Amino acid sequence: MPAQLVNILYLISAVLFVLGIKGLTKPKTAVRGNMLSATGMLIAVLVTLTDQQIVSYEYIIAGMLIGASIGAIAALRVQMTAMPEMVALFNGFGGGASLGLASATYLSILDGANAVVESANPFGEGILGIVSLTSIGLTVLIGGLTLTGSLVAFVKLREWMKSSFSLPGGPLANAVLLLAALGAIVAVCLDPSNTTAFWAIAAIALVIGLSLVLPIGGADMPVVISLLNSYSGIAAAFAGFILGNTVLIVSGSLVGASGIILTRIMCVAMNRSLLNVLFGRMAEGGEAVDADEVYGGKVKSTSSDEVAMLLETAQRVVVVPGYGMAVAQAQHAVRELADVLEERGAEVEYAIHPVAGRMPGHMNVLLAEAEVEYDKLVEMETINPTFEQTDVAIVIGANDVTNPMAREDKGSPIYGMPILHVDKAKTVVIVKRSLSPGFAGLPNPLFAMDHSLMLFGDGKKAIHEVTQSLKE
Ligand code: NDP
Repeated sequence: MPAQLVNILYLISAVLFVLGIKGLTKPKTAVRGNMLSATGMLIAVLVTLTDQQIVSYEYIIAGMLIGASIGAIAALRVQMTAMPEMVALFNGFGGGASLGLASATYLSILDGANAVVESANPFGEGILGIVSLTSIGLTVLIGGLTLTGSLVAFVKLREWMKSSFSLPGGPLANAVLLLAALGAIVAVCLDPSNTTAFWAIAAIALVIGLSLVLPIGGADMPVVISLLNSYSGIAAAFAGFILGNTVLIVSGSLVGASGIILTRIMCVAMNRSLLNVLFGRMAEGGEAVDADEVYGGKVKSTSSDEVAMLLETAQRVVVVPGYGMAVAQAQHAVRELADVLEERGAEVEYAIHPVAGRMPGHMNVLLAEAEVEYDKLVEMETINPTFEQTDVAIVIGANDVTNPMAREDKGSPIYGMPILHVDKAKTVVIVKRSLSPGFAGLPNPLFAMDHSLMLFGDGKKAIHEVTQSLKE
C-alpha cells in the first residue's frame, strides 16, 4: 500500500478516535461514540496488517480470534459492580503488550545486527539510535509497571487481597528504583548490546508496579486504575515510536491524556490530591469523629408504608443513588418506583454526583441499563439549587456524597469535597442496611437530622416494598 494512502487512512482513524471520545462525553451519543472509535480501530488494524511486513497471518488471525473471544465473553459476563476490575485487567494486558512488543523489537534488531554488522549501532546512527533505544527502554519501563500495578489493582478489587502493605523503603525505595531503571536505559543507549541492562529495566519496572500499588487501599483503586490506564496509553505511544506507527502514537497519546484528565476529575471530585491517593490514606489528616456522638438517640427509623404515605403527596422527588444501589442492583426497582410516582403526577429527577459509586459514570450506566431517560439524570451543580424545592429526597445506597460534614466541618477529612445538598430537601429518606459508614469511613450527620428518616434494608427490597405500598 502506498505510504501516502497509509497515512491518510491512519489520519481518518485518528479523527474517528477523537470523535468517538467526544461522543462518549454524553450518554445520548455514547453508543455512537463507541462505534466511531471501534471503526477507527478496525481501519487502523486493517491498514497495519496490510502495510507492515507480516511474519505469519495464521498466527495473527488465531491470536485475534482467541483474544476477541475471551474479551467478548468477559465483557458479556461481567457484573456492573465488577467493571473497574475488568478495566484494571485490560489495562494490565495493554501494558504487558507494550512490554512484549518493545522486548521483541529490541531482541530481533540485536539478533539481525549480530548476523550482519558488527560495530555500527543497529538501532540507528547518532541521535536516531538514542531516540529509538530510549523509546524501547521507556516502553519496557512504563509497560512493565502498568502490568504488575494493574494486576495488583485487579486482585485488590476482587478482594483476594484485603490488606495493604508497603515493600521495604516506601516512596523512597520507589524513587531509587526509578532512578536505577533510568540508569539502565542510559546504559542500553550507551551500549545497545548490553542485554543485562535491558532485562534490568524490565525487572525493575515489574517491581515498581508492585511497590506502587500494594500500599494503596482497595477503595482508592478506581483512581489508581485511571492513572494506570493513562500509563498504558503512554507505553503504547512509545511503542508507536519504536514501530514508526503514527496511529499507535496518536491513540496511545489519546489514552494517556484522557486517563490523566479522568484521574484529575476524580481527585477534584473527592477533594484529594493525587499524592494523597498514592501515598496517603483518606482518613489521615482529619479529626476522628465518634459515630455515637453523631447518631446517639437522634436517628429515626421508618417503614415502607410510612415512606409511601410521604410520597403520596410529594410534588417533586429526587432520587440520590450511590454505591449501595449498585451493590443491591436496585436500579430497576428505583425506575419502577419513579414510574408509579410520575403516573401520580409527581416530578422525579436523579441527582448524579461525579464520584458516586466506584467509578465515574457508574450511576449513569446503571440507570441507563434500567432505561431511565438521560435528561432525568441531573448533574450535581444543576440539581443542588433545586433541593430546597424538593418534597422528598430518596437517598439509595449513597453516603459520602451526601455528607454535610464536607461542607461544614473544617476538621473533617472530606472537608471541601463537593457534595449533593440533600439535607436541604423538605424530607430525606435514606435507604441502607445499617448505619455503617461509606468509603470514607465517616459517620454522616444527615442520618441524624430532624427531617431525615432511615429505611433500613437492602436497597432493592426496600424500594420494591415502597412501590408496593404506594400501589396499594
Ligand atoms: P459510599 O461508599 O459512601 O456509601 C455506600 C453506602 O451504600 C454504604 O454506606 C452502605 O451502607 C450502602 N449499601 C451497601 N450495600 C447496600 C445494599 N445492598 N442496599 C442498600 N445500601 C447498601 O457511596 P457513595 O456512592 O455515596 O460515595 C462514593 C465514595 O466512593 C466516595 O467517597 C468517593 O470518593 C469514593 N470513590 C468513588 C470513585 C468513583 O469514581 N466513583 C473512585 C474512588 C473512590 P450499609 O452497609 O449500611 O448498607
